[in-house]
Amino acid sequence: MEQMDGLDVVGCERCDDLCGSRSRIVNGVGPADADLLFVGEAPGANEDEQGEPFVGRSGDVLDEALREAGLDRGDVRITNCVRCRPPDNRDPRKGELTNCRNYLETEIDRVDPEVVVTLGKVPAEHLLERDVAVTGEAGDVFDVAIAGQPRRVLVSVHPAATLYDPSQGETFEAALTTAAEFTDAQSGQSRLGEF
Ligand code: URA
Repeated sequence: MEQMDGLDVVGCERCDDLCGSRSRIVNGVGPADADLLFVGEAPGANEDEQGEPFVGRSGDVLDEALREAGLDRGDVRITNCVRCRPPDNRDPRKGELTNCRNYLETEIDRVDPEVVVTLGKVPAEHLLERDVAVTGEAGDVFDVAIAGQPRRVLVSVHPAATLYDPSQGETFEAALTTAAEFTDAQSGQSRLGEF
């Protein structure tokens, strides 16, 4: 695809609004062959400044929960549905999600993870292509086709939800513990054989 260099999007100008508000394109980070691919919504102010997904307070929560689940941030790949910061941290619009979709699909294709973990409602609904009650479905794994390929999608609450509502912390941790069971990084308890 013309605007991707490996897993990175370069010089995209598909969304007028986002091109006007971003400092830079925030591409995914982590191993290109990771077992787990985490997908958030869109970069916020910290991510826009530093050029890396989940580096603000949500990132701290994610890193801590990964550690609790026996994983390290460096073991997993982390990306977003939309790679440019929406103005005033608004939700990405449908057209922006659509414009960025083939970049995400290409990243999923090339990384070929065991599980795609959606962080929050926007990525869950974007990839499952239906309404999702995230708190109720957190920790559940769904088999879906993404860009024509069979994929496993594990629904999780967004790490920021645990900042607003501490009771979501356990839900988040439980989802990440389930995610860890699909990796080789966490030895001994792999669920890969079940699928
Ligand atoms: N929230 C997201 O959904 N993505 C980020 O990269 C940071 C915060």
